[in-house]
Parts: sequence; structure tokens; C-alpha cells
Amino acid sequence: MSRRIVIAGASMGGLRAAEQLRAAGWDEEIVVVGDEIHPPYNRPPLSKDLLAAPGSREEALAAVQLRQRRTATDIRWRLGAAVTAADLAARTLTLGTGEELAYDGLVIATGLRPRRVPVPGPTAGRHVIRRLEDTLVLHGELKPKTRVVVIGAGFIGCEAAATAAGLGCQVSLIEGTGGPMERPLGRELSAGIRTFLQTHGIDCVAGKRVTEFLDVPGTYTEGAGRCAGVRLEDGTEVAADVVIEAVGSLPNVEWLAGNGLDLSDGVLCNEHLQVLGAEHVVAVGDVARYPDRRAGGPARRVEHWATPADTAKIAAPALVARLKGDVVPEPAAPLPSFWTDIFKTRIQGVGSPALADTIEVLEGNPSRPWEGTALAYYRDGRLIGAVTAALPADRQLHYRKLVNESGIPAGANLAAV
Ligand SMILES: Cc1cc2nc3c(=O)[nH]c(=O)nc-3n(C[C@H](O)[C@H](O)[C@H](O)COP(=O)(O)OP(=O)(O)OC[C@H]3O[C@@H](n4cnc5c(N)ncnc54)[C@H](O)[C@@H]3O)c2cc1C
Repeated sequence: MSRRIVIAGASMGGLRAAEQLRAAGWDEEIVVVGDEIHPPYNRPPLSKDLLAAPGSREEALAAVQLRQRRTATDIRWRLGAAVTAADLAARTLTLGTGEELAYDGLVIATGLRPRRVPVPGPTAGRHVIRRLEDTLVLHGELKPKTRVVVIGAGFIGCEAAATAAGLGCQVSLIEGTGGPMERPLGRELSAGIRTFLQTHGIDCVAGKRVTEFLDVPGTYTEGAGRCAGVRLEDGTEVAADVVIEAVGSLPNVEWLAGNGLDLSDGVLCNEHLQVLGAEHVVAVGDVARYPDRRAGGPARRVEHWATPADTAKIAAPALVARLKGDVVPEPAAPLPSFWTDIFKTRIQGVGSPALADTIEVLEGNPSRPWEGTALAYYRDGRLIGAVTAALPADRQLHYRKLVNESGIPAGANLAAV
């Protein structure tokens, strides 16, 4: 009888896992179960080009849909079906329909969902950006002169603020505790990005958290009305027609509860992406927490577009080897990479800049990132990351190569290498 690998989650991680299972020689059954009704699609445009101009629903989907590799044949897609529970000892999953689905191998690819701002107030008029529908609904509300409050100044918050400003909205960016993209990029570049946002008319509010969503400014009636603004911790009120919450994400792991796994931040895996405490189970993409063999430090999740492909290339061969009784191949040590686009200026990163203890400017002036700059990120004296802004692709490739080869101590003239 044919054996079955089930992939839970039908986005980029699910697709890349299916492709890599076939590439690793799995010629038996593959079933992908996803709770969204759409085939796998690309999320980065949801806060950028697509939010600015999605076109019709069909055009929007066509613009973001991911192409399946020709080698990824004979995959059964169960879309619009959530996995609600798992019994890893019995190797069965329960779907929202009540159906039980048995597996021989399991790939966890259920990604993340947006975290909400945990303060009281009305919910209507508040948005998040994770799914295609989020972008289509939000776009419909972003008209010229609309007052938009964006809460959170990470990648998605800054991108959404820039897109809304580009559509002629009056945008306030409530940064919260850190500056724009400060955690991944560091304080100096963050300050430059704030200046960049401000020169495009965005009101950046630093160092103040939101304590309440307002109904009519100054008042709040429990459960009633549409959100009309926010109150900050110093009592200031910021009026809004539209509020966008961009304060990070939560891993979709509840369906795995009761199996004795470490689900404290995603699913804890080893360097082969095998889930610790479960046999024949691997995880890929944003939901996987695994050791960073390059930068060191504790296992962590990497929430970037390249992660589903990077992790699937390790997880799929490991799972197939286990199921076939072969030796699990030596895992690669993926080099993380990411990008963001703010007002057509591309900021690109490689490695793990967020883990740095020392940052060095290599090119340009980080306080004016739109003119072109590059920074190196070190941990314990070793180069672990680099970020460029508004530089040509060959400069980014140059720094990528250096980080890939690493072992370079602070103070070396990297720009000239
Ligand atoms: C708005 C936005 C902009 C981004 N921009 C960039 C960028 O510019 N650069 C960059 O590097 N990265 C960017 N990213 C990050 C990148 O898109 C993600 O890292 C990537 O999508 C992760 O893919 P994934 O498959 O692991 O998870 P997800 O894309 O989250 O997919 C998980 C899938 O599983 C489904 N699912 C969840 N629970 C269940 C369940 N119980 N049963 C069945 N299905 C389930 C979900 O609905 C979803 O379809 C962006 C992300 C967003 C949201």
C-alpha cells in the first residue's frame, strides 16, 4: 500500500516542501492541507505594490500566485480545510470537517498570523496584513486624505505606512518601543529610515505605546462603534479613519497541542528541521524554530521570504531518508536573506544582523539611506550580517559573499574587498 506524507499549510512553505519531497525521491502520496481557499501565493506584495493597486480580485490573485515547479507532480491539494488537531503517536490529523487523515510522514508549514494590539476598544476599522483578503479590504479604505494610523514600525508597518502615504493618505506611524526596523537593522539605520519616512510626510511618533482604541475621540463605549483613533500612554489622542496593526506575529501551532512538543515559539526542531519529540515530523518556513548554525545563539524562527525554500531543502530530504530507512544527509547551513521596499528604495539584508553586538558603517551615510549605504554586523568580532540600502545589486552580492565566507573581524576594510 502507498505511504503518505501530509503537509499542513498550503502557502510557500507547503509548496516548497512538496517540491523538495519529490526532488528527494519521494514517489508515494503527498497531500497538502491548507485553510486558505487560494493556491499558494506570494505575501511580500501584500503590503507594497498590491496594496497600492490590486486591481480586481482575480487580477490580484494572478499577480501573486506562485508557480509550481514542473517536477512537483501528482500532489493532492486540500484547500479551504484547516487541520484542527494532531495525534502524533497515532499519526493522524483531524480536519475542520471532522475527517481523520492518516500519515506516515508530516510536514508542519502552518506559518504565522498577525498579533493584535491587546488593548480595549472597538474592532471595526482595524486591519492587519497577512492574507490576500486583508490587502483587498484595506486597499478599498485607503483614499487620498484618509487618516491612517499604523501601529508598529517593523517591516510590514513601515511598508504599509509608505504605501498608504503614496496613495495620498495622512499617515501617523506609532513606532512603539523601538524605532523603524530598529531590531533587525540597528539604531543608526533606523533613525535614517525614520527621516526618510518623515520626508515623505509620515508623522512618526516615537517611544509611545497605544493604550486604547477610541470610538469617538475622547470616548469609548465597550464593544460599540468603529475605531476612530488611538490613545497613547501619555494620554495623547491620534484620530484615524483607518488603523493598521503591525505588531508582529504568532505561530499557528495550536493544532499541535497535547503532543508534548516545545511550542513556546513555533515548533522546536534540530538542524535537520526534524521536530524534537516526534518521529517522522519536520517543520518548514516561518513556523520552524531551529539552530542558526552560522550566527550561533539559541534556536530561533526566521520570518523571511527565503526561509520556506531554505528550510524545505533540508527538511524534505531528512524526512524522506527517515521514511526510507536511509542515512539522513548532512544539513546545509542556510544564509538568511531579506528585503524591504520603502518608497521604491530597496533595503536588503543578508545573514543575521538582528543578533549583532557591533555595527560598522561601510559605505555612505545611514542617516540618509535613500542615497545609498551599507553596514556590517558583527557578533563576538565575527561578521554575521550585512545590510545595504539603495545600492546596486553588485554591492549587495559583494557583501553577501563576505558574510557567506564570514570569519572576518570588525575593522577590516570590507567596502574595498
Ligand atoms: C505583508 C507581508 C509582507 C512581507 N514582505 C516580505 C519582504 O518584503 N521580504 C521578505 O523577505 N519577507 C517578507 N514577508 C515574509 C514572507 O512572506 C514569509 O516569510 C512567508 O510567507 C512564510 O511562508 P510560510 O509558508 O512559512 O508561512 P505562511 O505564508 O504564513 O503560510 C502558512 C499557511 O498555512 C495556513 N494554515 C495555518 N494554520 C493552518 C491549519 N491549522 N490548517 C491548515 N492550514 C493552516 C495559513 O493560512 C497559510 O496559508 C512578508 C510577509 C507578509 C505577511
